[in-house]
Amino acid sequence: MFPLKADHSIRDRLYWNFFNMIPFLIGSIAIARDSLKWVAVYIGIALFFFLVIEFRFACTHCLYYIRSKGCVKCMMLSGVPKIFKARPGPHSSFEKAMTILGALPMFLFPVYWLVRDPLLLGAYGVSWVLFFLTARRYECVRCLNFECPMNRVPSDVKKEFENEDRLSGNFEFSGKGIRKSCSYLCVSLRTKHEFKDFLYWNFVTLTILFSAGIAIGISSTGWLLAYIFIVFFHFDILEQRFFCTHCPYFVRGEKSLRCMMNWGWPRHFRPRPHPPGKFDLVITTMGFIVVLLFPLPWLLKMPFLLGAYCISILLFLLTIRRYECSRCIYFGCPFNRVPVDVRKEFEKRNEFEMGKRV
Ligand code: SF4
Ligand code: SF4
Repeated sequence: MFPLKADHSIRDRLYWNFFNMIPFLIGSIAIARDSLKWVAVYIGIALFFFLVIEFRFACTHCLYYIRSKGCVKCMMLSGVPKIFKARPGPHSSFEKAMTILGALPMFLFPVYWLVRDPLLLGAYGVSWVLFFLTARRYECVRCLNFECPMNRVPSDVKKEFENEDRLSGNFEFSGKGIRKSCSYLCVSLRTKHEFKDFLYWNFVTLTILFSAGIAIGISSTGWLLAYIFIVFFHFDILEQRFFCTHCPYFVRGEKSLRCMMNWGWPRHFRPRPHPPGKFDLVITTMGFIVVLLFPLPWLLKMPFLLGAYCISILLFLLTIRRYECSRCIYFGCPFNRVPVDVRKEFEKRNEFEMGKRV
């Protein structure tokens, strides 16, 4: 579990606004093929929802809104003046109804144009699903907006937070908070993945592979089969042999793999419980480069799929870096971002646990 998040950084705002822009961009592309005037209407509807309806009926109950002085500071909106008075406490039924009624036109407006192009319609649906799934997984579990229906902070943590008045600055919530307390530290590192992690990360990966696969498949079934073979060869043979065999999730696994990327996949190679060498990393990197560059000749002929491919890769990298690499126990991975002192503490504990078992 992540610790509660009291403040959002500029990076948080950039990441979440970029993520939120994607479905709007897709909707606007579909509408723009017909008329730019309707794009302006679409933008107007979205702005009216975010800056008036949601702002008045949902945000005024949020702790980030209530705590901000002058302008709002949260992961989605920043620098917008607080034109409505804060309303601590739960939303009324009227406010809930108004928020839903305001959101519906925003989601449904572009559908009239999207249905003409199944590819755009699919991309629009997938981008919204991915946005909400990612928020639910990584932000709703540590969000101070306890009134939000998506909030997933456990009730005991909420109570503890409210009782101890931690907002007064007695306790550091984000980042440093993990490192102050050993129990938080150990809870924060991810020692085990669940099946739902595998489902989420494979969904994200599939958005990349699908954009490429569609672009290739439209031109040639033979090349599509070659691409599928390359993808399987890389992930199942090359990556598993040269990268995964050094990973603690692989080393600890049973007969089959149980990690956020592979679930139930047979382990073809013996574990190597030491960091990967330069040769291992070079082979893995080369495999990745081939997988990523292979579809480019086909994607270059289809600008929308090329855009979808690049944005999916960017989202994958940004999301994994933000939310997984900072708590991953594969310390030998070059992307790992767990602080050195946390690593050492974890390794010391791990050795102690192993010693106790022997
Ligand atoms: S609980 Fe989730 S959806 Fe609700 S405000 Fe917080 S981050 Fe956003
Ligand atoms: S550090 Fe990041 S990229 Fe490396 S294995 Fe862990 S989650 Fe994956």
